[in-house]
Amino acid sequence: MPDIQLTCSVSGQPFTITESDQAFYKKINVPLPTLCPKERLRRRATFRNELHLYKRTCDMCSATVFSVFDTDVEFPVYCVKCWWSDAWDPQSYAKDFDFTRPFFDQYHELLMTVPKAAALQLGNENCDYNALVAFSKNAYMSPGSYLVEDCYYTRKSQSCKDCVNSNALDRCELVAYSTNCNNCYSSHHLVNCRNCLDSSFLSDCSNCQNCFMCSGLRNKKFCFKNQQYSQEDYKTILKNYATQPTKNTIEEFKNFINSLPQRSSIQMNSENCTGDYIYNSQNAFECFDCFDLQDCKYMFECADVKDSMDILCHDKEIELCYEICSGGEKNYNTKFAYCAVASSNSEYTYACFYLLDSFGCDGFHFRNKNCILNKKYSEEEYANLKAKIIDHMKGTGEYGEFFPIKISPFKYNESGAQTLLPLTREQCLEKGYPWKEIQAKEYASPTASVPENIASTPDSIMGELLACTKCRKNYKIIPQELKIYRKLNVPAPKHCTECRLKELDSFKNPRQLIDSNCSNCQVQIQTTHPEESGAVVYCEKCYLNWVN
Ligand SMILES: [Zn+2]
Ligand SMILES: [Zn+2]
Ligand SMILES: [Zn+2]
Repeated sequence: MPDIQLTCSVSGQPFTITESDQAFYKKINVPLPTLCPKERLRRRATFRNELHLYKRTCDMCSATVFSVFDTDVEFPVYCVKCWWSDAWDPQSYAKDFDFTRPFFDQYHELLMTVPKAAALQLGNENCDYNALVAFSKNAYMSPGSYLVEDCYYTRKSQSCKDCVNSNALDRCELVAYSTNCNNCYSSHHLVNCRNCLDSSFLSDCSNCQNCFMCSGLRNKKFCFKNQQYSQEDYKTILKNYATQPTKNTIEEFKNFINSLPQRSSIQMNSENCTGDYIYNSQNAFECFDCFDLQDCKYMFECADVKDSMDILCHDKEIELCYEICSGGEKNYNTKFAYCAVASSNSEYTYACFYLLDSFGCDGFHFRNKNCILNKKYSEEEYANLKAKIIDHMKGTGEYGEFFPIKISPFKYNESGAQTLLPLTREQCLEKGYPWKEIQAKEYASPTASVPENIASTPDSIMGELLACTKCRKNYKIIPQELKIYRKLNVPAPKHCTECRLKELDSFKNPRQLIDSNCSNCQVQIQTTHPEESGAVVYCEKCYLNWVN
C-alpha cells in the first residue's frame, strides 16, 4: 500500500495517509479521513469547554450551579448530583432512526433535548467549580485533572497536591506557575522539570535543589544562570531578585533560556516518536503533551493509550480508539465520541458512561448496551440496524467523520479549539463557526490592583474585584490560592485564568513539527522551534552532550 495524498475538504491543504494509517483505518473499519489532521483536531476541540463556567440553576432541583453551559442553551442542564441520579432516564428521549434524513441532523435533535451535566465529574469531593475532573478533592478550576487535592487553576494534572496556576503536572506538591513537570516540590516557574525542589525559574532541569534561573541542569544545588555559587552568594542573588517585578524576571528567564541550545523535541524515556512533550512512549507520531502512549498518532494531552489515532484529552486504559474528545478510562474500539467512559465498541456518543456496543447516544450514566439514538434494541436488531445506518451514512458522506462543528453545544471561542487553534471573530463567522459575543459585565472596573510581592498583599485582596492587566477581564483571588502564594513566597497573579494559561503555554512552541537540521552536527531533525525564532536547536545526541 503506497502513501495516499488527499486534499483537506476544509482547508484545501494536502495531507498524507501513510501505509500504517491505512492499516489502522482498515483495522477499525472506517473510511479514510477527508479532513487534514489539523482540521480534525479543530473539529474535535470545539466539543470541549473547560475554561468558561456560567452560573445558572439546575433544571431538576433548581440549585445554583456552575456550568460549562450558559443559560441560553436549548437542552436542560442538571447539577452533577441530579445528572447522575435515577430520577431521569436517557432512554425516555429515544428516537427511531429515519432513513430519509442525514444522521447528524437526527443526532443534533437528540443532543438538543437530552439533559446535560452542568459539569462532567466523577468521584469527587468538594469540586463544584470544575469541568471534567475526576477522583479529586477540593479542586477549583482545574479541568482535565484527576487524583488532585487542594489544587487551584491546575489543569490537566494528576496525583498533585497544593498546586496552583499550572498545567500538565504529574505527582507534584506545592508548585505554582509551572508546566509539564513531574515529581517536583515547593517550587515555582518551572518548565519541563523533574525531581526538583525549592527552586524557581528552571527549564529542563532534573534532580536540582535550590536553583534559580537555570536551564538544562542535572543534579545541582545553588546554581544561578547555570553557574555554581556558594550557599551564601546564592541567597544574596535571590534577595536581589525578590524586589524585582515578576514580569521582568520572567522576561529575563525567557531570554536566558533562548541564549542556550534547545532540545529539538522534548521526549523523555521514549522511543521512535515525533512531536513534543512526550513521556514514556513508543511509536507515537505527531503527538503532543502525552504520557504512556504506544503505537499512536495525532494525540493531544492523552495518557495510557495504545494503538489509537486522533484523540484529545483522553486517558487511562484506552485501546484501538479513534476521533475522541475528553473522557477516558477503559475504552476499547470506541470511535467518534465526546467524553466516553468505559464504553467499548460504541460510536457517536456524547457524555456516555458504561454504554457498550451502542451508536448515536447521549447521556447514558448507567450500564447499558445495544442502544441507537437512545433506544434499546435486542442484540440482533442492534447489529442489523447499526449496519444499515452505517451504510446510509456512507451514502451521505457522514460515516467516518466526527460530529460537525455546527452541532457542538459550544460556540467556537468558548471551546478548547480557541485555545489550540485560535481564530478571530471575523475568521470564525466567515467559516460559519458560531461565535459567542463577550458580555460587557465581565469587564467591570477593578476595585484593587495586585501588589508586586506577596509580603505586601493584604488579606482584603480576596474580597476585591480584579482586572487582568493583559485583557481587562475580571477575576478574583480565593483564600486557598493565597495561602499557597504565601507558602511559596510568590506574588498573586495579575492576569485572568485564560491569560495565565497562555503565559504558561508561551514557554512551549506551537504544536507543529518542522523539518530542520541540528545546529551542531547538521543531522536531520524534526522540531517545533519555528525557523524565525532563531533558536540554536540541537538533536537529542548533541543536546545531551551539551547538558552533560
Ligand atoms: Zn440538581
Ligand atoms: Zn486576561
Ligand atoms: Zn546534532
